[in-house]
Amino acid sequence: MNESIHGERTASEQQDRMTELIEQQMAISEVLRAIASSPYDLQPIFDVILDSATRLCRADAGTLRLSDESGFRLVAVRADPLWVSQLRSSFSVLENGSFRSRFAASRLPTHIPDLTAVEGDRRDDFWIAAMNAGFRTGLVVPLLKENEIIGTIILGRKQVQPFTDKQISLFGDFAAQATIALESTRRERQYREAQMALAHANRIATIGQLTAAITHEVRQPITAAVTYALAARHWLSEEPPDFGEVSEALAGIIREGNRASEVVGRIRALIKNAPPRKDAVSINDAILEVVALTRTEAANNGVSVRRQLAEGLPPVRGDRVQLQQVMLNLIVNALQSMSGVDDGNRELYISTVSMESEGVCVAVRDTGHGLSPESLSRLFEPFYTTKPEGMGMGLSICRSIIEAHGGRVWAIPCEPRGALLQFTIPAT
Ligand code: ADP
Repeated sequence: MNESIHGERTASEQQDRMTELIEQQMAISEVLRAIASSPYDLQPIFDVILDSATRLCRADAGTLRLSDESGFRLVAVRADPLWVSQLRSSFSVLENGSFRSRFAASRLPTHIPDLTAVEGDRRDDFWIAAMNAGFRTGLVVPLLKENEIIGTIILGRKQVQPFTDKQISLFGDFAAQATIALESTRRERQYREAQMALAHANRIATIGQLTAAITHEVRQPITAAVTYALAARHWLSEEPPDFGEVSEALAGIIREGNRASEVVGRIRALIKNAPPRKDAVSINDAILEVVALTRTEAANNGVSVRRQLAEGLPPVRGDRVQLQQVMLNLIVNALQSMSGVDDGNRELYISTVSMESEGVCVAVRDTGHGLSPESLSRLFEPFYTTKPEGMGMGLSICRSIIEAHGGRVWAIPCEPRGALLQFTIPAT
């Protein structure tokens, strides 16, 4: 009889344990799912972590704080709506050194089963805040990264109702896993932000190199418009005035004015630091715009530009401006590599082809000084440059942009001279 009761209890205990493990597993997969669906915003991830923690431990309320220079910043609160504002105000006092030192010492979960039973000098600021907030049972779990506290989760119950050892250990495991997930997302985001900042700086630098060419590009339509205006005045002063010619000259002025504003628009789009987009982009059109921007620079360097852009290419999915930045970098590199070559033709050859499995392949080939074995192996490394004024970031940024689009980029030395840079971008 006893045995059977004992047996039943064991089975139900096992069942409970199983349920807890499943709940823990589900909680962590929810965090991972939040991370996957919110690559740019951390707030939904904080919310899911706290939500899961409160549910896992059957707590009435919870707060998640992350450590920064000023202390422990409140990043998420979970409770019924009335309680949220109360928690926010009562717990603002936690932004001080004593809280940090209190938990820095133990690095272990701190369980306060009955806050009303706490006595004497243990009734500190934290206790007052917790009591004011309406907590009667509390659990504080530090979030640790390499033994350093990067945040805390505090769970509370309105009634005196201690957390069980199992809940505490389950929650400890969950907190450890959530911290790893959170930290890798934070690192990844910081890396992406740094890359974006560098990409922006690089874009400005490239634009700087092209300023002369751009000035020329804008001056041309303006000069042409003035010429048309002079012609219109001439036809108006004729006896009788030739309105047909005047109208044609006016059409010319409009055309040239539009051309100038298009050039300016293209430059503005390139300089703007907008977040990456996922549009359907016609790669050929995007390339043609960059070729137009670099035309004068090529002419000044005695480079002839040939293009072979395949017809009927599928649109690619991505950020038009970023893809143009890649093209701009490849073309500027090609022009620079040819500027030092005195013998032979200076030819820039740009082509696109459709690749069955990989979308579209773009190639930029030059007849410049080519790639040394060292260059070939280090070309895409950040800060690798052989130019006195170079930053060495162009190709590294090109690679991260292309890889972020799901494509790949590579370089091949050409015979008798020159380099071929190619990249693929998946089609929509
Ligand atoms: P930067 O242009 O500032 O040097 P990049 O990352 O764009 O930075 O290029 C890195 C290096 O790769 C260049 O300094 C150069 O040595 C080499 N390189 C890039 N493109 C070419 C090319 N078309 N031909 C020869 N060398 C090239």
